[in-house]
Amino acid sequence: MSNKGTLFLCATPIGNLEDITLRVLRTLKEVDLIAAEDTRHTRKLLTYFDIHKPLVSYHEHNKTEKGQYIVNQLQEGKNIALVSDAGTPAISDPGEDLVKLCIQNGIDVSALPGAAAAITGLIMSGLSTTRFSFEGFLSTVKRHRREHMEQFRNDMRTLIFYEAPHKLSGTLKDLLQVLGNRRIAVARELTKKFEEVVRCTLEEAVKKYDEEQPKGEFVLVVEGADPEQLEMQQQEKWKRFSLQQHIDMYMEQGIDHKEALKRVAKDRGVSKREIYALQLKEKKGQ
Ligand code: SAM
Repeated sequence: MSNKGTLFLCATPIGNLEDITLRVLRTLKEVDLIAAEDTRHTRKLLTYFDIHKPLVSYHEHNKTEKGQYIVNQLQEGKNIALVSDAGTPAISDPGEDLVKLCIQNGIDVSALPGAAAAITGLIMSGLSTTRFSFEGFLSTVKRHRREHMEQFRNDMRTLIFYEAPHKLSGTLKDLLQVLGNRRIAVARELTKKFEEVVRCTLEEAVKKYDEEQPKGEFVLVVEGADPEQLEMQQQEKWKRFSLQQHIDMYMEQGIDHKEALKRVAKDRGVSKREIYALQLKEKKGQ
């Protein structure tokens, strides 16, 4: 059996302190050390629950040096809990790097699930939860933000973003421009006193936050691309191709003639028999 310690990934509340789990409380009391993004912030949480443990800071700017220190401690047999400022560690915070480092060093990692702002926002949104994509924070570089958003034009999954209040208005405008007037849920201060979920269109959200100063923490949940609209766009695209060009497109990808005809028929929403007839017509028209 390994004498190494375990890294416990402990989810903490995203607002309401009652959202901490019994297992997290017990683990925080039992471990030798707690690694925290902001030790002052975590100290307050621990004091509230009457937990008194040594803390080590682990954040974006010291993660290389502190990551190695934490791994050394784990290798010496210490059990360590990792907590972030709020929610689930390793989601949009440097916890991801520590998990990788522990795995590389053969250290056991155990997850203690709990609150995560993305999932809380999603289930409150009223949008589809069947398939979704968590996108975290968009880049602050305008060109990168746009490129990132362009990738979702044809994505039917519900999209989830984190956003800071001072960037909210700009992000909503960019989303409207790139994705069109989709439905959105702007989830603010989840589980806190001033919790609010505004369910509207992107146009309405842009207007709202042009008129008022956004305050607090935000999760944006945006409706995925409309499958009917995508299908219509695709049909329009095929119309710009002659039948032969459409068949050639598949054959150039190494697909045999029979299969190419099958795919063309499917793309154009017609039967294979109709494709043969159309092919003949096209040939006669040449
Ligand atoms: N690890 C966290 C989690 O599990 O959700 C996320 C950390 S990330 C650095 C912080 C971002 O999460 C905030 O900027 C905000 O977008 C979102 N967030 C955190 N708490 C929130 C809350 N109570 N309501 C809305 N959004 C929140």
